[in-house]
Amino acid sequence: MTATTSTTKRMPAAFLGHGSPMNALETNRYTAAWRAFGASVPRPRAILVVSAHWYVGVSAVTAMPRPRTIHDFFGFPQPLFEIEYPAPGDTSFAQEVAEIAKPVRVGLDHDSWGLDHGTWSVLVHAFPKADIPVVQLAIDARKDFDFHFELGARLAPLRERGVLILGSGNVVHNLRAIDWSKKELGFDWAHRFDGAARATMTERPSEAAALRDHADYRHAAPTPDHFIPLLHLAGLASAAKENAKVLIEGYAMGSLSMTSYTLEAKCPTDDGDRRPGATLPDPRDVPAEDTNA
Ligand code: ZN
Repeated sequence: MTATTSTTKRMPAAFLGHGSPMNALETNRYTAAWRAFGASVPRPRAILVVSAHWYVGVSAVTAMPRPRTIHDFFGFPQPLFEIEYPAPGDTSFAQEVAEIAKPVRVGLDHDSWGLDHGTWSVLVHAFPKADIPVVQLAIDARKDFDFHFELGARLAPLRERGVLILGSGNVVHNLRAIDWSKKELGFDWAHRFDGAARATMTERPSEAAALRDHADYRHAAPTPDHFIPLLHLAGLASAAKENAKVLIEGYAMGSLSMTSYTLEAKCPTDDGDRRPGATLPDPRDVPAEDTNA
């Protein structure tokens, strides 16, 4: 008898800055980067997504076999409400996530959530066939940054088991401060915070939770939901003693940063594509902060 050792390689991981849900319908420099990332990774057994848009008072995973496509936004054109991302769920994988997260208690959600737009607006580009099981992990809004970082680190062994872990949010996300005249520019404070996050993720991701103490954090993340998925990637990076790489970076409407990060991905980083990202509905119809973007 010879002992066999697993030759499964460590799966890449990423944080994708999803921006406007309209990115789901458009093709631009960001969606091209997400597509290139998806095409570059080995076919995953399952995809585990931490989405900014499942921010609730509990830790949970979606455990239903057929998660519904949730259209959790307001004021967008009808075609966005018609998108379906029919990827299957995976109940036994959801149980595996709950097991690996212990002693954190992760509940199995059988019928409340599904796949929200933080997940499907990027997956329609990264994995357009929707044929790989997708499970979402909720962000427990009661918990502090250290908890989310440590939970990310605890998920690290899943990367050795063929699982692709994605965070979906935005490092800078302040819908009240949206300035349409800025198009693809960022406010100075957005640049400062995004730059600090970039330095942290690419040089010392184990210190990511300390970004809450940055002078511009309150402006950049007036609510922490879109920032926290970055902490899960930082936890994964720290567990693997890797630094993150910037997949693509940029700004939208002053107060959104679109920066995305990867771990161990083979895809090209920013290749000079200049097509701008998607925008939000006309603010005369729906104020940005009422869109749930
Ligand atoms: Zn969002």
